[in-house]
This record gives sequence, structure tokens and C-alpha cells, in this order.
Amino acid sequence: MVEGQKIQQICKKYSLESLGDELVEKWTDEETAKSLHDLEKYFNQKIIESVISDQLQGLVPQDHPPDQIAYLLRADGSNAERFEEVSQVEITEAKNWLEENEIDADELTSDLVSYNTVYQYLTNIRDTTASGKQRQAQTPEGRQKKVMDRLSNLQQRVQAVTKQGLESLVSAGVIPDSYDLQLEFRIECTECDRRQGLIEYIRNNGCTACKTNKQQG
Ligand SMILES: [Zn+2]
Repeated sequence: MVEGQKIQQICKKYSLESLGDELVEKWTDEETAKSLHDLEKYFNQKIIESVISDQLQGLVPQDHPPDQIAYLLRADGSNAERFEEVSQVEITEAKNWLEENEIDADELTSDLVSYNTVYQYLTNIRDTTASGKQRQAQTPEGRQKKVMDRLSNLQQRVQAVTKQGLESLVSAGVIPDSYDLQLEFRIECTECDRRQGLIEYIRNNGCTACKTNKQQG
């Protein structure tokens, strides 16, 4: 078995088919840029959530949150540094709780994945489907579009956060309600000192003034 296939098998077993796509999305999205450890946690948590919610008819156990159970089960038998603080008592307690709820703790433990499995899955198994997109992003035009999209999203977020922050300051009486918010990312051309909008600059493949000058000269 190719390592990484476990992800597909587990997704199928627990009827969480979209989970594989989610891993790919989270891994390739450069804004969120999830680490393999994050993805491992996410995956295992989703598996446990689904088992628990099937077994407890949607009830969410306050004392045994799925992420905590995932952590403890992963710690079982592991000597990795990140599990150093976990005691065997905690692990046993979590396993007992699962068994009390008629969940096979050992089976569940062996169904959880390591970050290496996640890595193998993303690189070996999903590589072929993701490569087309990746190639497209590597052309100059693809890259230009990608950067523009990313910066434009970021600007909208900055705008929203700023607006919210200012409004909260107005209602707290810190600043008066007499402003007109104008946020724009600008870039300065070092050839002609002209300032222009950042996105415009990228869209125009550089400084428009300098380009016009060059064409005239
Ligand atoms: Zn210029």
C-alpha cells in the first residue's frame, strides 16, 4: 500500500469523502498556509467528531472535546516530543470514556493518521490532480493574477477590520464620528517618483508613466 492511501480508506470508512479535498485546499491555500501538523490535527479531529456524533446522536461532550481525544489517542504509544506531557492515565481515561460509549478505542486509535501520512497523501496521491493548477499559477500571467487576487482580498480585509475598529472607537467616545475612511496601498516608481495604486501597478505591468515615456522616446 502506498503510504497516504490510508487517508482515502479512512475517508471512505467514515463517509467523509470531502475531507481529502479539504486537506488539499488547506495545504495549497497560501493565505492560510496550514502546516502538516495542523492538517493532521484537523483530519483526526474530524474523524473523532463524526464517530462521537454518530454514537451520541449529535451530542457534543463538554468533558471530552474531539480535539483532545485525538491528541490523547495520538499520544498513545508515541514517544514524540509534543506528547511528552501526556500521562498514561489521561490516555486510559479517554479510552475508557470511548468504550463506555461503545466506541472501539483501539480501532479508532489505529484509524488516526500521522502528519507523514498526510504529507504522503498530498504529495503522492493528490499531486497529479493539483499539478495542472500549479502549472497555471507558474506562468507569468497566472502568477500576476494570483498575486493581484491575494492582495485585493487582503485590502478588503484590512478595510473591513479598519472600519470595524474605527466604529468601535467612535462608540467608545475615543474618536469623533467625522471621518471618511480611505485606504489604498500605493507603490512609488523609483524611476519617475510617481505614486500609483498597488493593484494598478501590477495590472499595468509596472509604471504607466515610464512606459509612456519609453514609447515616446
Ligand atoms: Zn515611473
